[in-house]
Amino acid sequence: MVETATLFIVPTPIGNLDDMSSRAIETLKSVSWIAAEDTRHTQRLLQHFSINTRALSLHEHNESKRTAMLCQRLKDGESIALVSDAGTPLISDPGFVLVRRCREEGINIVALPGPCAFVTALSASGLATDKFIFEGFLPPKTGARKQVLLPLKEREYTTVFYEAPRRILGTVSDICDTLGEGRHIVIAKELTKTFETYVDGTATEVMAWLAEDPVRQKGEFVLMISGVKGEEKAVPAEAMDLLITLKAALPLKKAAAIVAEHYSLKKNTLYQAGLEHTESS
Ligand code: SAM
Repeated sequence: MVETATLFIVPTPIGNLDDMSSRAIETLKSVSWIAAEDTRHTQRLLQHFSINTRALSLHEHNESKRTAMLCQRLKDGESIALVSDAGTPLISDPGFVLVRRCREEGINIVALPGPCAFVTALSASGLATDKFIFEGFLPPKTGARKQVLLPLKEREYTTVFYEAPRRILGTVSDICDTLGEGRHIVIAKELTKTFETYVDGTATEVMAWLAEDPVRQKGEFVLMISGVKGEEKAVPAEAMDLLITLKAALPLKKAAAIVAEHYSLKKNTLYQAGLEHTESS
């Protein structure tokens, strides 16, 4: 039986080689070619798993050109596997142009499930996962970054970003400026590696943790920002302290409005918290 030539999308480990699935290894062994983001990088993985399949490069600068050639090979009956440097191809990685073209041309596509940094981070974050948005990398410059962050002021569901080590501190600082120091965030660092770490707290607390030791800013990061609904459930302690102080001197409505503005919280949430505090004291 002649098997249909297929484009396989093959996720690879994001740090721990033991996360390479046996199906991924078998698929990479079985295909005619491996299209890799960086062939030298992938070669190390192939050697580790004794995979002898030929690799060719497919990265953001040659993807359009390579796509025509790879589609032709697929039509000629050769199966091809697509890998990136780490994790799932197409997730902040090359492959979209190729997959779109294969879909348009009716070429068979099979995606293997496997490692992906944002799914791994989100599942352990403790943040709401019923509805979330993954936004990939933030812009490198603070002005553009703040523009992307601004809509999160009102967003009710979790937002997930990838962030580079040289920018993580600046980005968390921008979160404090745009979304308030009390916004609940989680950073997941060096997932599946020896120094895997989750830091969970208000934006100020996470920023203080990062600033305390420059070594903490090294490595790979997933940054997750809680939705505002999540924030409503618990008024951060420092916001509550300010509310109690202000409501001794101001009408509760006014005090709630000031604290809401300062911590990017909902006025009504603070008003309710103020009422509850008055009743219980
Ligand atoms: N395709 C990959 C995936 O499925 O996760 C993502 C590729 S993207 C170019 C690389 C970014 O993913 C890193 O800058 C970092 O933000 C995140 N990342 C990758 N590996 C990670 C890890 N082990 N721990 C935390 N973040 C990671």
